[in-house]
Amino acid sequence: MPGPVRAEPRPRKKLSLTLLLMALVTLVFLLTTTILLIGSYQSKKKSLIETTLNLNYTNAERMSKTVDSLFLSMRSSLIFSADQIANLGAVPPANIDAYLELTRNSSNYFNSIVLMDSGGKVLNNSPSDLGMAGRHLSSQTINEMLRLKNSYLSAPFIAPSTGRMLFLMSEPLYNKDRYYQGQLVGTVYLQDYNILNMIFGNNEIDESGSYYYIVSREGRLLYHPDISRLNDDVTSNRVVAQLMQGKSGSMQAVNTQGVSMLAGYSAVPSNGWGVVVVSPAAGIQQQLQVHLNKILAYTLIPFAVLLFCVFVLAHQLAKPFVVLADLVNKIGREKVELPELKPHWNREVDLLTTAVLLAWKDIQKQTDQLTQEARTDLLTGLTNRRALDNSISQWIAARVPFSVIVLDVDKFKFVNDTYGHLAGDEVLRRVADILVSNIRPGDVCARYGGEEFVLLLPRTKAENAYIVAERIRKTLELTEVPLPMKVTSSQGIAHYPTHGKTREELLGRADEALYTAKHTGRNRTVIYGE
Ligand code: GH3
Ligand code: MG
Ligand code: MG
Repeated sequence: MPGPVRAEPRPRKKLSLTLLLMALVTLVFLLTTTILLIGSYQSKKKSLIETTLNLNYTNAERMSKTVDSLFLSMRSSLIFSADQIANLGAVPPANIDAYLELTRNSSNYFNSIVLMDSGGKVLNNSPSDLGMAGRHLSSQTINEMLRLKNSYLSAPFIAPSTGRMLFLMSEPLYNKDRYYQGQLVGTVYLQDYNILNMIFGNNEIDESGSYYYIVSREGRLLYHPDISRLNDDVTSNRVVAQLMQGKSGSMQAVNTQGVSMLAGYSAVPSNGWGVVVVSPAAGIQQQLQVHLNKILAYTLIPFAVLLFCVFVLAHQLAKPFVVLADLVNKIGREKVELPELKPHWNREVDLLTTAVLLAWKDIQKQTDQLTQEARTDLLTGLTNRRALDNSISQWIAARVPFSVIVLDVDKFKFVNDTYGHLAGDEVLRRVADILVSNIRPGDVCARYGGEEFVLLLPRTKAENAYIVAERIRKTLELTEVPLPMKVTSSQGIAHYPTHGKTREELLGRADEALYTAKHTGRNRTVIYGE
């Protein structure tokens, strides 16, 4: 049974420089943008709230002034009319009706005007079709008004007789003898088109959600975009509470509907009413969102540009590393042409490139030297046996026809034994020189071992190889060696592919021919099989 297999540790994913730098820039961007957005959000929020509060306060104040002067005009109109009527003396009721009609229509301050005696009986009314004349009115408001016998402003209330929601203001009628005669009453119908609508227009909530309203001094709604809420008690609203104390200002507060509002409020001095202009705080949020989106959009463009620059820069930085790594990878495996490396703008990359290139050149030189040494015979400088074997194999693989000459120095043992090894070596070097000077470029000349040499002659027939071998043999025979004897050699020749298809076969055949040459007297050349 095979033993437990140990799981190979998974190679950890490597981060590229480009990715790393881009991630870093993104992180910095996110951090900076977050800080920027938070800061901008806070200050913008503060300023938006302040601006809205100020604006609402200014509007409330302006409206409050308008209401104030409107109210004073309404009051003086009533005072004037009450004075006129009180001092008319005995006039037909129809004349008073006409007077009231004139008063009401000339100013449009009141929806109706009623003249009432001190007991609450309606003497005249305008519009004439109101149908109140002759009726006795009695309600908490009317009773209080008649009891006070003075200038009067009511809280909003619902008239028991008509069910109308209204408020009234009235002036007492005193004759010359300071005798109280009754009240001249002007009413404003809250739910109908009235003087407030006329001045402030159709009260509507605008697109930002802002609107305004008017509260009575009792904290009840006199004027509001939502008609159904008129007369509602809103004293629980903090803003209204301030107004009821006669204060003006601005604040953020939750209204009676539970909505957070930015309110500007202003008390009307002449009647204790209050004008409130409000904007929903949520609107600020919306504006902030728009603001933040804008900032984001503005920062995203430079970010994209920056990221692109970083990408290009990182790519530029990483490229030489990749080239260098590729170069170093090839060292020793294959012969590489040194790429032309320009000086890099980055100091570190430039230093590394220079260093690697120097090292690379050094290694290449050493490798070349070692390769050369591995292929060379030390004594003669010829190709050695390993390199020769390689050449033969390559030529056979390429099906290049060629001849092999195996040359063996005759009686070399005798040279060594007689004149010593050094002399023998010198003889071997002489032989090598002769071989080299007798071959053509493209031929291979190797020392195969001991005093045996091999020549490879590409695209050369055995007969022509024979001529070469003989030329060498004769040259050697005639060469002066620093010994008191002649040195000769014997040669065996074989041809590829005529005499053998493999290296071993071919060399074996050449050896056989050489053997024949040795045994038939030496100092001669034999072609295999001849
Ligand atoms: P033959 O004519 O039959 O070839 O006789 P030989 O003496 O040349 O043959 P043998 O193989 O008996 O002797 C070869 C000798 O070559 C033996 C060895 O001492 C000598 N020899 C081998 N390599 C070297 C070398 O590198 N230098 C020297 N000086 N002698 C070597
Ligand atoms: Mg030998
Ligand atoms: Mg020999």
